[in-house]
Amino acid sequence: MKNERTGCNTVLLYEADAYIKTFQGKILSVLEKEGKLYLELSETVFFPEGGGQNGDRGRIEGYEVIDTKKIDGRVYHILEMPSQEETEKAAEILKPGRTVSGEVDFALRFRRMQNHIAEHLFCGIANKRFGYDNVGFHLSDVVTFDLDGPLTEEEVSSIEDACNKAIWENVPVTVSFPSPEEAETLPFRSKLELSEGIRLVGIEGYDLCACCAPALHSTGEIGIVKVLDRMPHRGGTRITLIAGEDAWKDYRNIDFQMGELMKIFSAKREKVFEAASEFAAKTQEMHLENTELKKQITGLYAENLLKEIHSGANVPTKICFFMKDADEAQVRNVINRCVKEYDGILAGFRGNDSEGYRYVCGRREGLEKEPKALSLRMLAARMKEAFGGSGGGSEIMIQGSAPAREAVIREFFAD
Ligand SMILES: [Zn+2]
Repeated sequence: MKNERTGCNTVLLYEADAYIKTFQGKILSVLEKEGKLYLELSETVFFPEGGGQNGDRGRIEGYEVIDTKKIDGRVYHILEMPSQEETEKAAEILKPGRTVSGEVDFALRFRRMQNHIAEHLFCGIANKRFGYDNVGFHLSDVVTFDLDGPLTEEEVSSIEDACNKAIWENVPVTVSFPSPEEAETLPFRSKLELSEGIRLVGIEGYDLCACCAPALHSTGEIGIVKVLDRMPHRGGTRITLIAGEDAWKDYRNIDFQMGELMKIFSAKREKVFEAASEFAAKTQEMHLENTELKKQITGLYAENLLKEIHSGANVPTKICFFMKDADEAQVRNVINRCVKEYDGILAGFRGNDSEGYRYVCGRREGLEKEPKALSLRMLAARMKEAFGGSGGGSEIMIQGSAPAREAVIREFFAD
């Protein structure tokens, strides 16, 4: 029989008491979808997905309930089946009229309640102080919600402070079911146009809000509220926060990381940021120094090469040079600088004998069109034949690898 207020056939036991962990209910209907069984029961402690919060999990008759969803006004417990054979066997047993026992995953339920009621508390305080409404809510690993007005960082911190004070005060969280007439006289927050009957979750002295989800008994159970992020969103503010067990686990994780950072920087806890900032500044300085040194080295190599190029007669048509510890950009820079004054092919190698070399070969643009010009692509193929490795590119520049010793490479280019 349909409940007038909730609009579904199932009595939702968690609405009045979210601490009932086990229950018995009669099967009202069963669906089979994609190897899973969907059970509708006369009553349940499982909260079906709704209002931004996922459905409860747990077990029914030993089967894992992976989700609870409201579909066309019916609350379905979705049972995961290990195999098609098992689905058929279970479908034989789980028939309408039969009474089944279930148990909700209460650890998960409690975590979600901590986060959900923390959101109520934050929004209730924001509403009282600034008149903002909550216009979006999503609860996953963290709570994310949108308020319809701007908040500065200081304002968010101040609301966060007030939330934690409300937790220490340990004020009652209440659930009530006012009639539509009673509800009209009550100043409660609501995200929705309420079509169904009204259920209100109150936080004494802080908030009153229409809500369909399981609620804690008192604010003390929230444990702690920590805002993780605040960002402007469509003229309002998007807040991400965590509460309770999630916040404590996050703190534990951060504490672990802090310990590791203290070791890395040999710094006291309160000096880690200072030490990290100094380190970052020093790194930046070293980076600039390193760039300058690389430039100088590149310049020296280019100078040497140009000396060889301008040494007089018998300048070879190919010259190879080794910049063992250089990066590719350095080798390219040397080539680009020297080909302006050289009519042959320059081949730069970096690496070492034990791990092999990477090369870049280039020449001045336009030279490749001369009738007697050597083909760079053919040179890449010949190097591959001689050294192994791989390579290719254009007739202006080729690059590749040469897993060979320096002496062998020099011999190759002496030809
Ligand atoms: Zn709610």
